[in-house]
Amino acid sequence: MKEDNCIFCKIASGEIPSKTLYEDEKFRVILDLGPATKGHALILPKDHYANLYELPEETAGDVMKLAKKMAEQMKERLGCQGLNLVQNNGDLAGQTVYHFHLHIIPRYPADGQKIGWQPGQVTQEELEEIKNEITG
Ligand code: 5GP
Ligand code: ZN
Repeated sequence: MKEDNCIFCKIASGEIPSKTLYEDEKFRVILDLGPATKGHALILPKDHYANLYELPEETAGDVMKLAKKMAEQMKERLGCQGLNLVQNNGDLAGQTVYHFHLHIIPRYPADGQKIGWQPGQVTQEELEEIKNEITG
């Protein structure tokens, strides 16, 4: 399940070389070419799924297990003092490569990065409406 002209399909299969931290039959974990911090890595499934919506449930579970394994290795080897997992879906959310990937971003004191959002305000009534919109 590969897609022509998908750069992450080519990297995941090994057709395009990458700095690989881990590989098995389903995944390749590579260093990001435009790292936010030292050790910024990407978990790539070898099969092509454009985003989280296309990702099979079982693969989604495997991705999180692998993220935990990589996070532990980075903490031990790089001595990072924090770590962000980031996963963008759709251009509005900042996705630029349309092959599912999970960012693993080790964090260090004064690393100059700010990964977050502006907190908004909401009433209890609005929260209830939103809850019902999603689940009702
Ligand atoms: P997105 O914005 O889609 O969540 O993240 C795409 C990420 O892929 C970016 O962090 C970008 O630096 C990285 N990237 C794009 N092209 C390549 C590439 O050819 N090799 C590697 N290793 N990373 C890439
Ligand atoms: Zn792909």
